[in-house]
Amino acid sequence: MNTPLPSENESPDNAPSFNDNEINPAIPVNKRNKTSWVWNYWDEEIQEVNGVSRQVIVCKVTDTSNPTPCGKIYLKSSGSTGNAITHLRNKHDITKEGKIDQVC
Ligand SMILES: [Zn+2]
Repeated sequence: MNTPLPSENESPDNAPSFNDNEINPAIPVNKRNKTSWVWNYWDEEIQEVNGVSRQVIVCKVTDTSNPTPCGKIYLKSSGSTGNAITHLRNKHDITKEGKIDQVC
């Protein structure tokens, strides 16, 4: 005597629909702000490179042990921000969050 279970087919007709035509408000892309922290550590200067006046960026980071600014120079170009960030991180342990405090 096998009594088959009644087939229950619950379809969630009342489930909330997320199919609204909701459009996310455009999030403003703040391109400049993204890397602005870098410029706390770099000065923009005009320097003569190979007889041509070029815009360069000069690292002005000083170490606690050495008051002389680093003075590393990169040509200012579209890729200079990446160089600047890499330099700060590799040479000065500086990131977007600031100086990396080494526990010692
Ligand atoms: Zn430097």
